[in-house]
Amino acid sequence: MSITRRSFFRYCTLSAAALGLDACGLRLLREALANPAAPSVIWLIGSACTGCSVSFLNRISDKAGEPADVADVVANAINLVFHPTLMGSAGETAVSALKQAYNRGNYILVLEGAVPTAFQGHPCVVWSYHGREVTFQEAVQELTPRALQTVCVGTCASFGGIPAAGSNPTRAMSVGQFTGRRTLNISGCPANPDWVVWAVVQLLLGNPVTLDADGRPSALYNTGFTGAAEDAIIHDKCPRNPGKTGTVLAEAFGEDGHCLEPLGCRGPFTKARCNGAWNGIGGHAPGQAHPGHWCIGVNAPCHGCVEKSFPGPQSFSETYIP
Ligand code: SF4
Ligand code: SF4
Repeated sequence: MSITRRSFFRYCTLSAAALGLDACGLRLLREALANPAAPSVIWLIGSACTGCSVSFLNRISDKAGEPADVADVVANAINLVFHPTLMGSAGETAVSALKQAYNRGNYILVLEGAVPTAFQGHPCVVWSYHGREVTFQEAVQELTPRALQTVCVGTCASFGGIPAAGSNPTRAMSVGQFTGRRTLNISGCPANPDWVVWAVVQLLLGNPVTLDADGRPSALYNTGFTGAAEDAIIHDKCPRNPGKTGTVLAEAFGEDGHCLEPLGCRGPFTKARCNGAWNGIGGHAPGQAHPGHWCIGVNAPCHGCVEKSFPGPQSFSETYIP
């Protein structure tokens, strides 16, 4: 499927609510995409399961007229010069393209995965060039200072996540911790694909992005759909909230519609828009009766995957200790 800038723009139009774009924003985006001097995007993957890229690839629409998946759209509509699994070229040809983008300096750096720092970074090698292996650690160190913006996709890059949990001998850590630089974090395990596109769109438009204390866009993680900060916590807007809906508490897994708090749900401690943000894979938008295919919609307790504390000792426990 050949996706053009026009298709990308159409995708953004159709997803305008999820991407936070109004009519003016869409007009500006059209102009930004038509600009040949628009920044390129370099996407590297470190210590991770590649789930964020898979989430991105799975952002599939079956509606007629919509682009089929966002990866096609982004790969062909913006100047994505390097992505280990999406790029057309490979080997030293791909690395040469990356180096050219680096030399031009007009690039957004997207990083997925934590940075392993033990063994001179060799638990994660991102490419080899002229017979020499380059580690993720080395690439991050070299590419972050010149980037227009470093965007961390997923909880591993944002906060360390699963690779940094426990006593992993690779000594993996977040990009921010490794570089000492403030990064724009789109956390989540996996990151929501619309939120990744949202961040890229804001940067292409040159819009200032207000970040919370954990480097995440406040617009995505600290407000509800109404924009009210008090609506940010998942529990407060959950359709199963017993205080608001009279829902009964679940006693066992698999009880449709029951509140999952007794089973360890971390919704009361998690800030994100997950209840309406997984539309592309069957989630439900605000106001829709459909229970949705977000975690709670399919009877799985929220385990707070967007938070810095993930994965904590209680993430997958039935008895949550706040
Ligand atoms: S299922 Fe979780 S988020 Fe929803 S009301 Fe119960 S505790 Fe809160
Ligand atoms: S509902 Fe909870 S576990 Fe599910 S994606 Fe959102 S923050 Fe992560």
